[in-house]
Amino acid sequence: MQRANRPADIPVAVERSWQAQLRDVIRDPRELLARLELDAGWLPGAQAGHALFEVRVPEAYLARMRPGDPCDPLLRQVLPLDAERDAVAGFVSDPLEEAEHTPRRGLIHKYARRVLLIASPSCAINCRYCFRRHFPYAENSPSRGQWQETLDYLRDDPTINEAILSGGDPLVSSDQRLAWLCERLAEIPHLTRLRIHTRLPVVIPERIDKALLGWLAATRLQTVMVLHINHPREIDAALVAACVRLKAAGVTLLNQSVLLRGVNDDAATLAELSEALFAAGVLPYYLHVLDPVAGAAHFDVPDDEALTLHAALRERVAGFLLPRLVREVPGETSKTPL
Ligand SMILES: *Cc1c(COP(=O)(O)O)cnc(C)c1O
Ligand code: SF4
Repeated sequence: MQRANRPADIPVAVERSWQAQLRDVIRDPRELLARLELDAGWLPGAQAGHALFEVRVPEAYLARMRPGDPCDPLLRQVLPLDAERDAVAGFVSDPLEEAEHTPRRGLIHKYARRVLLIASPSCAINCRYCFRRHFPYAENSPSRGQWQETLDYLRDDPTINEAILSGGDPLVSSDQRLAWLCERLAEIPHLTRLRIHTRLPVVIPERIDKALLGWLAATRLQTVMVLHINHPREIDAALVAACVRLKAAGVTLLNQSVLLRGVNDDAATLAELSEALFAAGVLPYYLHVLDPVAGAAHFDVPDDEALTLHAALRERVAGFLLPRLVREVPGETSKTPL
């Protein structure tokens, strides 16, 4: 695929290892604007937002943006704005009240049969709307010793059949660490499934390499990967190739999106997303309404509009391409349909 703005003698980012790409993510708002040839007028706002939640954009994701377009739907997801400083009623730092459901460090058990494990404290990309933008990661990044506590918890509760690796982004961790964890989980007899919630293969498709496919294909557990893709333009040839490799390793691929003002808040875009997902072998799973996290109110789409959009999407796609429109309500024991 042709990449914009890149002299022919510089190797393109997508040919480099995922570790190198992760190390070299764009962390400076000034560089982000310069690389996209955007007006310096965006800089003060970008720096104000960056002070609240730092910029992180992988090159392979930047390469899918349109230079010179401040409204690019991919850019909107990562560009800090001055509006993030606005205090808006109802938008708070821990909208899911997860702090109250953490029986072990890095473990969230709110739903029947499945447990969420915070497998990595960081992400390859920082999405401005993320409900974890204020999450106390430092207290929730488990060491091997702390994994033992988590594994004991899972072993002691035979009702649990699924471990969900989440974060941050679990695939930021090394394959050595993940393979170790996967082996320990597979030793727990009542676990049947390993699910991984990740955006890393979307923003750095080279993450789906031999080492990762090795431990994923080898485990006795059924494997499910829930990707996080919000817009059809996020799906490029490299991501499709990554999905093909995952499917060949026996992984079931699902996608969750967040409904975002200025990114994907129209039925045509959502329909195009569903079609592009299926073409890549991925089924749409959830369309989440925004969690009311402080700093993200400008992405909010009101419930009545979300319902209208979802109804319009239902008119445009096959039934199995219609994601469930849900919100996460603190204290509830499942996602709540709108
Ligand atoms: C979303 C979530 C899950 C997974 O829920 P599914 O509906 O099975 O996808 C599990 N635990 C927690 C705490 C969650 O927030
Ligand atoms: S947890 Fe997901 S949504 Fe949040 S910053 Fe990381 S990749 Fe983005």
